Amino acid sequence: MASITLEHIWKRYPNGYEAVKDFNLDIEDKEFIIFVGPSGCGKSTTLRMVAGLEDISEGTLKIDGRVVNDEEPKDRDIAMVFQNYALYPHMKVYDNMAFGLRLRKVDEAKIKEAVNEVAEVLQLGKMLKRKPAELSGGQRQRVAMGRAMVRNPKVFLMDEPLSNLDAKLRVEMRAEIARLHERIGATIIYVTHDQTEAMTLGTRIVVMKDGIVQQVDTPQHLYNYPDNLFVASFIGSPQMNFFDAVVEKEDGRVRLNVSGDRFLLPERKGAELIEKNYVGKEVTVGIRPEDIYESEEGDGRDEYAFSSRINVYELLGAEVLLHFDYAGKSMTARVEPTTAARMGSTVRFAMDPEKIHVFDRESEAAVVH
Ligand code: ADP
Repeated sequence: MASITLEHIWKRYPNGYEAVKDFNLDIEDKEFIIFVGPSGCGKSTTLRMVAGLEDISEGTLKIDGRVVNDEEPKDRDIAMVFQNYALYPHMKVYDNMAFGLRLRKVDEAKIKEAVNEVAEVLQLGKMLKRKPAELSGGQRQRVAMGRAMVRNPKVFLMDEPLSNLDAKLRVEMRAEIARLHERIGATIIYVTHDQTEAMTLGTRIVVMKDGIVQQVDTPQHLYNYPDNLFVASFIGSPQMNFFDAVVEKEDGRVRLNVSGDRFLLPERKGAELIEKNYVGKEVTVGIRPEDIYESEEGDGRDEYAFSSRINVYELLGAEVLLHFDYAGKSMTARVEPTTAARMGSTVRFAMDPEKIHVFDRESEAAVVH
């Protein structure tokens, strides 16, 4: 199988547009790497450079330690699965899957063996004689996947492979791809703009914005320790709440002053803010919806409490989202469905101080988690 290394990779399109800027990443054998970010941030461009479908303007691309910048796509031992799975409509499933191997003049007995084996893994055994029009969207996507798998490539590159499927099917295929990754143990790079897909599939996630890598991390670490405001807001749904505060120090303790409400910070966070010279400065505070609780006076959370009127009550079954305004910002709390709060009621909330994130106002970098 294969490791992939991207060293200082740049992409400048002929019109001068810099779509990818100084991309660095070491992908280990068998990793499932996700490139995620908003549309236009350079995910596909990067993937296409790895595939050899797009020239690399600057930098070095290695597969298994070998520089492949100038190697043809067909020599890179890579298979690509696209969102429009582009099956040949007049060919049966079997022939669609066999197509790449026939181009490579593999002998028919070997092709049959490979197609049957992959068809079994993908549960397409009974579909081999059908044409694409006689398959569901999910089955077609599986054929596209199968066509890539029969070649037994070292690396799979997938560009939004599920985006043409309806929501339910997407969730099913997501689980299937995860199982597939475990079973075939290939190295996979997977592009998506959907943070949920990224969080559920990836062993590591690369978050991109404007052609620049923002953070590379495991899903859990990305969620708990976002490096900057962009990552904090992009990962997680509903998204993290943000508001402005001033860092204050009194009697050795550090508080965040939010339009007059003063939240006591845990000692470690306070000490870090002092050390990094943030006392007296304006900062951006972040707190995830599940880290805001309903609270009662005297429940030991008085130092972290604030009140607001509920604008929207949203029951999602296992949880309730309460939307409200605080410190001039729209905020969301994710609470138990047993809540008595409804639209128009005034609720006393408390933040979990351990879960408060502080970001620099100017650089937007995380200062304390
Ligand atoms: P993503 O996959 O993250 O949606 P892309 O990699 O497709 O983004 O595109 C990144 C940026 O490069 C976009 O702003 C896009 O408009 C631009 N771009 C893509 N292809 C070309 C091209 N051939 N010439 C000039 N700009 C391009």
